[in-house]
Amino acid sequence: MMMVTAVPDPLAGAAADEAAARGRSRAGARASAARAAVFGVSDGLVSNVSLTLGVAGAHSSPAVVRLTGLAALVAGACSMASGEYLSSRAHVELLRRELDVERLAHISDPDAERAELVRLYASRGLSPELADVVAGALMADPEIALAVHAREELGLDPARLGSPPHAAFASFASFALGAAVPLGVWSLASGTAGVELVVAVALLASVALGLALGVLTGRSPARFVARQVLLSAAAAAVTYGVARVAGVGAAG
Ligand SMILES: [Zn+2]
Repeated sequence: MMMVTAVPDPLAGAAADEAAARGRSRAGARASAARAAVFGVSDGLVSNVSLTLGVAGAHSSPAVVRLTGLAALVAGACSMASGEYLSSRAHVELLRRELDVERLAHISDPDAERAELVRLYASRGLSPELADVVAGALMADPEIALAVHAREELGLDPARLGSPPHAAFASFASFALGAAVPLGVWSLASGTAGVELVVAVALLASVALGLALGVLTGRSPARFVARQVLLSAAAAAVTYGVARVAGVGAAG
């Protein structure tokens, strides 16, 4: 007599696995997008704090400092966006090529592809018979078969290869947001007061970015805060120092 109830429904199990993997990869994608946004804000903040402090350090007029900050915001955000677009585009094309290779394999040697799935599910603990049933069911629909192979072998979801324009816009926005912080301060204060206020606000913003990275990575925020503050301060100090020396040289 067969113990029908003791046999797990292989397709329900596989579907649940799929759903869990999708959920994990979606959560992972969100977390990595959030981290990328924090790094973008940090790039904009550090580069524009350094640049405007450098220009201010060379005793430039407040108008020149503000114009420099605005130009740096636009130039930096555009450059980040175009760089992100190109790299994201190249990445998507690479993934598409890998998918094409897999698609060709499904057309030219479906039996080998099916055997691949049988081995995979058997290695995950299904009996060879069950693994064969699962593989057979999944291979019945070419689109589902391709999606399953893409996820299992390439670790990617064919429906979510990423959007280069979206990535470019996110880069632009996050850099511009960070770069706008010192620019906003310079529109309120200038001279020594401006330098002090920019340093104070940049310090607070660096602490906030370090905290955000700590939360997003699930690690102790203290180290992220210390690293963010130290590196931002070093970048600003170097730029300020170089510009001051060069400014004195140019004036003399
Ligand atoms: Zn395959």
